[in-house]
Amino acid sequence: MTNCFSIPSALQLNAIPAFNDNYIWVLHNTEQAVVVDPGDAQPVLAFLAQHQLQLTTILITHHHKDHVGGISQLLQHWPATTVYGPAQESIPLRTQAVHDQDKIQLAALGCELEVLSVPGHTAGHVAYFGRSDQGEPFLFCGDTLFSGGCGRLFEGTATQMLASLNKLTALPPQTLVCCAHEYTLSNLNWALEVEPNNSDLHDYYQQAAALRAAQQPTLPSTIGLELRINPFLRTHIPAVQLSASNYCSGRASNDSEVFAQLREWKNNA
Ligand SMILES: [Zn+2]
Repeated sequence: MTNCFSIPSALQLNAIPAFNDNYIWVLHNTEQAVVVDPGDAQPVLAFLAQHQLQLTTILITHHHKDHVGGISQLLQHWPATTVYGPAQESIPLRTQAVHDQDKIQLAALGCELEVLSVPGHTAGHVAYFGRSDQGEPFLFCGDTLFSGGCGRLFEGTATQMLASLNKLTALPPQTLVCCAHEYTLSNLNWALEVEPNNSDLHDYYQQAAALRAAQQPTLPSTIGLELRINPFLRTHIPAVQLSASNYCSGRASNDSEVFAQLREWKNNA
């Protein structure tokens, strides 16, 4: 018998640290959990046990080992778990292949996710955008967008990645950005070279440095913050264009070329 008067518990979002600098995000209420990109099962199993949670869903953004390595062991403990992953990539033990604009109902958590195709870091990379039962928007973006940076172009072009990032920056500015790596401070050190006169960037660096000194994650970020401080989202800003052209000794003729110059610079930073 269902209880029609039950009120959904408020959702919680946690970042489980894994390996050197990965985060495995967990979205959960008091009973059930969804995990994103579990590269390692052990820290996830420990978190689920500690909070007495049942794993129902795994969301995979792309095929890299540090994002999929824990799936098999998690399924041994939770065989009924649904594993969502991009249709265009080979994802171990995937049970649901997802495409751009697919909707995923997380009934137990009272929320719906939308799949966004964001190629660039890998060819089939997807992100998952959702809203909590309180209406708060959040994004699991894997290795596409980092705070102060973006993923390397392993399988895609600068034009593809810029289009993918533009899709993410069109989301509401208060969207919580749940990135898969703690790269923030090194990204911001580089971003300060690109835009030394950006006062928002200086302020954010101080906040991020304080969080890391206290061994706290700098994430989630927000889309609104990233638009103010992330050079890869600021290819339209003259100061960013000038720095990029100085580094590469050549003027870019469009935003994709500015993006490619920035990516080259960051790869060598
Ligand atoms: Zn990756």
